[in-house]
Amino acid sequence: MSDRYHNPQLETMSTDEIRSLQDRRLRAITEHVYARNSWFRARLDARSLAPADIRGLADIGRLPTMSKEDFRAGYPLVMSCVDKTAIVEMHMSSGSTGTPVVMPYTRVDIDQWGECMARCYRMAGADPGDIVQITPSFGLFNGGFGFFHGARSMGLFVLPTGAGNTARQLRLANDFGAKVLTGVVSYAIRIMEVLDEEKLPLPPWKVGIFGAECFSDAMKQKVAGGLGIEVFDIYGMTETGGVGTLGMDCRAHDGLHVWEDHYVVEVLARGADQPVADGQMGELVVTSLTREALPVIRFRTGDLTRVLSRQRCACGRTHVRVAPITGRVDDMLIVKGVNFWPRQVEQALMEIPGVRSNYQIVIEEVDGVRDIRVNVEADPGVTGFMVEKHLKEALGFSPKGDVFAPGQLPRQEGKAQRVVFEKK
Ligand SMILES: [Zn+2]
Repeated sequence: MSDRYHNPQLETMSTDEIRSLQDRRLRAITEHVYARNSWFRARLDARSLAPADIRGLADIGRLPTMSKEDFRAGYPLVMSCVDKTAIVEMHMSSGSTGTPVVMPYTRVDIDQWGECMARCYRMAGADPGDIVQITPSFGLFNGGFGFFHGARSMGLFVLPTGAGNTARQLRLANDFGAKVLTGVVSYAIRIMEVLDEEKLPLPPWKVGIFGAECFSDAMKQKVAGGLGIEVFDIYGMTETGGVGTLGMDCRAHDGLHVWEDHYVVEVLARGADQPVADGQMGELVVTSLTREALPVIRFRTGDLTRVLSRQRCACGRTHVRVAPITGRVDDMLIVKGVNFWPRQVEQALMEIPGVRSNYQIVIEEVDGVRDIRVNVEADPGVTGFMVEKHLKEALGFSPKGDVFAPGQLPRQEGKAQRVVFEKK
């Protein structure tokens, strides 16, 4: 494994150095939000806290947590800690309720984002000068711009294809020699289908960096095999400053490295303010230490994970590793008294020989009673009975399984809608 860093000093500094940097930066960011924004000030005042009370990480638990709802209530710039003239860019996500979450950026914030992303590219094995194909659109959603800012910081050649027109994407990738493919994993699956349908040559990609969707190990292997690439799971969200801000897995693929010089992560018990022990599952709570326009202080992400290791990794990086995100607190499904995650269904499906990558989990509710049906595309010979039997073995309950020929289930550009609710 070649160990290459974008910023060797910061990526490999000792745990003690990381902690003292975090202590210092937590004090500074607390002072910044308190001095610059009345919303943050009121939150500390309500707890009779002054910035000077936060001396370092040991005091972080005294600060109040914040949530997605705070962002929505703060639309458009209630929580901004800088003058509007200092803002150079914004991104936005809307989610299922439709009320937008807005993230403003200063010049410094864009550089911070570019630094985090550049580390991710380098961690995946990209070399300066490599061509990166950016398939998310360049718009309000942060994905396209995040991959772009990182590519600029690292010195990559940007092929800004954006979303759609897959046959043209493949042609460009081949004509120019794209080495890095970026986007959402469901789009990688679409690319595999088009390669097959149009009998096009496989582009020379060596690396695929995918974010914004939880995906199972089985799906990862399918995409890696189908496209001949090493697959990476990149992490970040609108509220933390976009794709890649929180980190990614390295080539050891043993958890996601979180950039601890920029972020403090806590894993809290669900619905509580108590941290769980390392190794235990809980909700990831994030504090951004270096962002100016809208830092988050103990932001409850809704994402479930656990701390895997605080030891130096095989790649040489010292930043904490957390498990790939299993699901979101609000994504867990309960059917007939059984709790499960969509990702577990995906893992079970992908283990069945002949099953393709496109599937849907349909939750049907009839008179308040929920039932589940799994629609999946598969090669001839795979039957609904085979699907049901395997799901029962893997999950401990029996959903109905319907098998479709490849190409028959709906497809989306961008983030896939894997779970569908039907009320009758
Ligand atoms: Zn590593």
